[in-house]
Amino acid sequence: MSYPRLKIDLDKIHHNTSRLVSYLGEQGISVTGVTKSFLGAPQIVKAITRAGVTSLGDSRIENIEHMRKSGISAQMVLIRSPMLSQVTRVVDAADVSFNTELTILRALSCAAIKAGKTHQVLLMVELGDLREGILPKDIKDIIDEVKKLNNLRLIGLGANLACRSGVIPDNTNMNELSELANLLIPQKPFSEHIISGGNSSNLNWVFKGGDIGRVNNLRLGESLLLGIDPLHRKPIDGLFVDAFTLVAEVIESKLKPSKPWGKTAQSAFGDVPEFEDQGDINQAIVATGRQDIDVDGLEPPIGIDIIGASSDHLVLNTRTTKLTVGSQVVFKLNYSAVLSAMTSPHITKFFHESRAGKMASDPTHVVYDAA
Ligand SMILES: *Cc1c(COP(=O)(O)O)cnc(C)c1O
Repeated sequence: MSYPRLKIDLDKIHHNTSRLVSYLGEQGISVTGVTKSFLGAPQIVKAITRAGVTSLGDSRIENIEHMRKSGISAQMVLIRSPMLSQVTRVVDAADVSFNTELTILRALSCAAIKAGKTHQVLLMVELGDLREGILPKDIKDIIDEVKKLNNLRLIGLGANLACRSGVIPDNTNMNELSELANLLIPQKPFSEHIISGGNSSNLNWVFKGGDIGRVNNLRLGESLLLGIDPLHRKPIDGLFVDAFTLVAEVIESKLKPSKPWGKTAQSAFGDVPEFEDQGDINQAIVATGRQDIDVDGLEPPIGIDIIGASSDHLVLNTRTTKLTVGSQVVFKLNYSAVLSAMTSPHITKFFHESRAGKMASDPTHVVYDAA
């Protein structure tokens, strides 16, 4: 086995997905599984499609192309506006793209004509978070223009909140989306239109009995993978929060002073750390670091603290335990740590199945001994 290793429990992801898919299904909301954080890894895609997501959404065309090449046949949605330089690839690999710019919509139309295809588009509306989206006052004109473009089919409206500015999805902004849909997207045939209300941060609004209105789709990433409501980073009842764990190997373990000696200036990453003298401590180093992973998104086992990190060393205070060299430490990860770990070539990805729901949860807050 090579370390550091990202352990990905496909059963827990399947469990989380199927719970959310069935809960939202009862409210008439379909789920687009967002694959960007795991680069469209086919193992995870299979787990979430088995659990009932109706389409797959990714912001990068490379990931969509990768899923296509892996033989995945689900509907693929590019959830970030296409780059003008990539419209041909978008029409080729994605069934649907999210759009906010007429220039790009025109280019998509040309590319779709050339490819002899119809490309489906969904227009994103700005509802206050000030990331992507057409301002509500401009939507009608843009829809009129899109209707004139050949080989494009407008399939609905969408919005995205709580990403750039943390604006909370609530009845006010969601009703605004529904109102726009009522005005501009004919109610019938209802099922042909997608009104995509947002991402995992919309779940709290649904759980609290929000007024769903015309919203009939959500795009979920973090909640499926980490069982977390990203608005407050709180676990969602009944979901696993430990489908991802990082296993790293101890390369040094010594009793060392807690306070450095010598004159100090900046550390390797530009900060000037401060140290309290706690006498000697059990210090261990595991072989991973900032080049591999967002170390601030790692949660160490109980009884262990992360006390420092450089590009390739993660320094731990193991308090009363003295770790043996060659043993492994298991960390939980937040979304940012998952993102960075998935894209690191130094971290081995290990997919496994724990039979979640049938068996007790994997122990995650433990230190495994190499012996
Ligand atoms: C990343 C992304 C999502 C998924 O967000 P989560 O918080 O992971 O559920 C949904 N929609 C868009 C447009 C995104 O960029």
